[in-house]
Formats: sequence, C-alpha cells, structure tokens
Amino acid sequence: MELWFTEEWLPGLKLSVRVTAIVFNKKTKFQDLCIYDTEQLGRILTLDNVIQTTEIDEYIYHESLVHVPLFAHPSPERVLIVGGGDGGSLREALKHPSVREVTVVDIDGDVIEASKAYLPALNSGFSDPRAKVIVGDGPAFVDKARSEYDAVIVDSTDPIGPGQALFTEEFYSSIKRALRPGGLFAAQTESPILMPAVVRDIFRRIGRVFPVARVFTAPVPTYPGGLWSFACASLGTDPNLPARQPNEAWGLRYYSPEMRERAFILNPKMKHDIIES
Ligand code: SAM
Repeated sequence: MELWFTEEWLPGLKLSVRVTAIVFNKKTKFQDLCIYDTEQLGRILTLDNVIQTTEIDEYIYHESLVHVPLFAHPSPERVLIVGGGDGGSLREALKHPSVREVTVVDIDGDVIEASKAYLPALNSGFSDPRAKVIVGDGPAFVDKARSEYDAVIVDSTDPIGPGQALFTEEFYSSIKRALRPGGLFAAQTESPILMPAVVRDIFRRIGRVFPVARVFTAPVPTYPGGLWSFACASLGTDPNLPARQPNEAWGLRYYSPEMRERAFILNPKMKHDIIES
C-alpha cells in the first residue's frame, strides 16, 4: 500500500509527496514531530503536519535567512537563533569565520534530538564547540538579553501554536534591545503569494519597532506558494549593503552577491500587498 504525506496549504489546496519510510514519529510536549523519507523531496521534517524542512530545498531557505543578515555585518561574533531546532540555520551561521558563538533557543528539545539522530544533512553544527543549545521559550530568553548579539535570526514555525509568540511587536522590541550597535534581525515571514495580508501585518509590526526593515524573498518550492518572504531589519545598517562576500570555499549552493541583490527586488503586486497597502 502506498503511503503519502499531505499538507493542507489552504482550504482546497494541498501538497502531497509519496513516503518511502517513516523514520521517526513522536508526540512531543508541543507538537507532533515526524521525519519521513520521501520519493521526491529526500528526508523531510514535519511538525503538526506542516513541512519544516526538506533535503531538496532546505539550503535555499537556510542560506537566505542566515547569510542575508550576516553578510551585511562586517564582523559578526555573537549570533542568536530563535527556533531553528533542526540545525540548518546553525550550520550556516557557523560558516562565518568571525563568529565566536551561536546560541540556538528552541522550545522543543525533541526537535533538536531528532535532528541530531536523523538529519545528517542539517545537524553538523551541533557538534561545533561554538554552538550553545538552549531548550526554552524564545521570547522569554530574548527578553533578558541586553545589547548582546550582532544578529538575531528567528527561524520559526508558522504563527500558530508556540510559534505565535515569535511574531508579536513585544518580541520584536525585545530583539531590538538584544542587539549590539550595528546588529541585524532576520526572520522568516510566511508566503507572500498565498498569504499577503499575513506578511503585510508582520511587516507593520516589525516596522513599528525597527527604523530599517526590508522584505526579501527566495524560492522554497515545498513551502506554501513556492516563494517565501523574509525580513531583515536593523537600527540603521542597510540590510542590502553587503559588508563581505563568500568565496568558493564556503560551498554555498544558493547565496551569492547576485542572488542577494535579486532577493530584495519585489514585483509590483508584492510591493503593493506588503508595503503600500
Ligand atoms: N524552517 C522552518 C519553517 O519555516 O517551517 C522552521 C524550522 S524550525 C524546525 C522551527 C522551530 O521553531 C521548531 O523546532 C519549534 O519547536 C520552534 N519554536 C516554535 N515556537 C517557539 C518558541 N516560542 N520559542 C522557541 N522556539 C520555538
């Protein structure tokens, strides 16, 4: 009998992929965690039936979310990742030679343990001595930080369940306090094609807190709508002025100075839906 994983993107719109093996499944304290091997997407991680990461396109998402803010900083040393328990953002942040410490705060320790056990494509950063892993609530952790980080990266689930707290104006204000001078904030901000009003509202909240807030996008075929939006914000630093560039030794598969420029170009409808409406 065939086994399929199906995610409902919107009422009447679904993504399905044939599953070749159920690798891991656990009802954690916070969510239903599954890892599957699939025919077309490689190994995938889902939480509450929503795809978090797939081997086929995770590099596009993680390289965009992490390298856009970090390359805008001349020498990032301390980085905070809120969420991101799969380890993909950690792996990318540790590629910056100036980085001395990356703290990952995920509310669900089971996601971290499952990644360590079953997601070799993502989990390499957990064994790096510069990685500090904390199991706890992101907003509660950030609320205590004052001028500590060169970048805060929010790699969250959707704004439902425990992820809801990662999209509030209060949380963005505490991120602002947690940044060192010259620091940057980046976050995934949902589907600009299927959920433009959700993206617009997120940017309104970010814009009330940060004087500089820019939208950028990247194609992530396994996320709803296939194109994903991100925020990069700061207290003054221009998110689209790269201070450094990678070379071939970094082994990046998506990010490049050209892709970065392209990422900040919004089509007229998106500009209208997210920024001008
Ligand atoms: N790339 C993914 C996406 O856009 O679908 C997100 C990946 S990552 C697995 C999301 C993580 O956010 C999950 O591991 C979840 O446990 C974590 N998370 C959700 N709410 C949180 C909170 N309040 N504090 C810290 N982490 C949280």
